Amino acid sequence: MRTLVAEPSKTYRNIIRNILEEDGLDPVFVENGKEAIESLKIDCPDIILVSHQLGDIDSFEFIRLINNQGLCLDSPKFLITSNNSLEFRRKCYDIGYTEILLKSDIGALQVSCRSMLQYKSCFIKANILYVEDVASTAAYTSNLMTNYGWNVDHVETAEEALSNVKQSDYDLLITDLILAGKLSGINLIEELRAGSSRERSLPILALSGWNDLLRQVYVLQRGASDFISKPFQENDFKARAINLIHNKRKNDQHDKAKSYLKHKAHTDALTTLCNRHCILEYSEKLCKDATETDVPLSLLIIDLDFFKKINDSFGHSQGDKVLHEVAGQLKSHSRDTDLIGRWGGEEFLIILPHCDLEIAVERAEKLRMDIETLKPHNIPVTVSIGVSTLITENNESFDELLRRADKALYEAKESGRNKVVKFNTSAEIK
Ligand code: GH3
Ligand code: MG
Ligand code: MG
Ligand code: MG
Repeated sequence: MRTLVAEPSKTYRNIIRNILEEDGLDPVFVENGKEAIESLKIDCPDIILVSHQLGDIDSFEFIRLINNQGLCLDSPKFLITSNNSLEFRRKCYDIGYTEILLKSDIGALQVSCRSMLQYKSCFIKANILYVEDVASTAAYTSNLMTNYGWNVDHVETAEEALSNVKQSDYDLLITDLILAGKLSGINLIEELRAGSSRERSLPILALSGWNDLLRQVYVLQRGASDFISKPFQENDFKARAINLIHNKRKNDQHDKAKSYLKHKAHTDALTTLCNRHCILEYSEKLCKDATETDVPLSLLIIDLDFFKKINDSFGHSQGDKVLHEVAGQLKSHSRDTDLIGRWGGEEFLIILPHCDLEIAVERAEKLRMDIETLKPHNIPVTVSIGVSTLITENNESFDELLRRADKALYEAKESGRNKVVKFNTSAEIK
């Protein structure tokens, strides 16, 4: 980032040099107003730092002169001063200084330069979807963004944009509002805001020749994240786009951290199955869905037989490995819609939506046999399984279903283990 520093004091020049060099900047130093103006005539820097007293002129005169000559109108100008009075600061802003930095707070200079640096060097890689139907505008704006190092997918209609959004991950959508296809830019914004969570979280920068405030507000109310009028100033466009990309990144990181924590809180560390907390969170909803749609739902409780003996004979860590392998076997038996989890200790649950009692028993029997032949780490293991099915017409809770499966499991244990027993509902009703 090119920086010009106009500062007559050698001491301050050195202080500023040290600060800027920390961020890899290599500023050009001049000692008075006249030299500064000569330098600006040759090259416009990205930031101009000006001391209030420049020796030959003061900073107010300096800005008047460069404005009169139309020099570097788009470069931010930072004033370095010891005067902190409100009246003085007002005057500085009025005359055109972008930021006022106090000599007593030189750290603020570093912060401001760093944020400028972030925008200027634009290290971020970004995937942009750009919707614009006018070829010349599209070529100009795409070229700008490509020069920032961003990847730009340009399309001409909202329809194409919608299809692109479904297929690829974008950091930002930039859209014109009047478009060639059937859908307008506003329709596109509305479609995305009513779409999936990924679509809803995509930032949208609306870009339009419409310059009236009511319309701009309307576009923002439809769900655009920001609005910029055409023709735009490049600085303005870039700063808005980068803000939106940064915010998206931050939100994505936040969502990722949240889902990681949720995943951890729901996962049993030893088996990587859903844990008890997770089963409790989803089971009630699965039962409710089955009742509402009157579709069968069944439950298996699987308990390892004489597991205490396995621990005693082979050691606790071998016992852990057995649990891990049995869990793997349960997983390999389950369908995507099954909820399979570790209920506690050596006890597992599988909730089987769309599965009646007879099929559940068949699946349990197959599972029992496969575990019998599994012999994890050469350790013979068997399981007992209790099976129950939800009585949907009774509007049953998960607790009820579990209670019956538990009873059936008890019966399996009592009658010799390594067995599948279904709960006989009619027997209980009688
Ligand atoms: P049953 O056939 O009646 O179910 O007999 P069991 O020995 O399997 O049942 P019991 O409830 O008496 O003992 C369960 C054992 O499971 C006791 C406990 O130490 C062991 N266990 C529970 N959680 C873990 C674990 O995470 N790792 C290991 N290695 N053992 C565990
Ligand atoms: Mg257009
Ligand atoms: Mg057991
Ligand atoms: Mg047990």
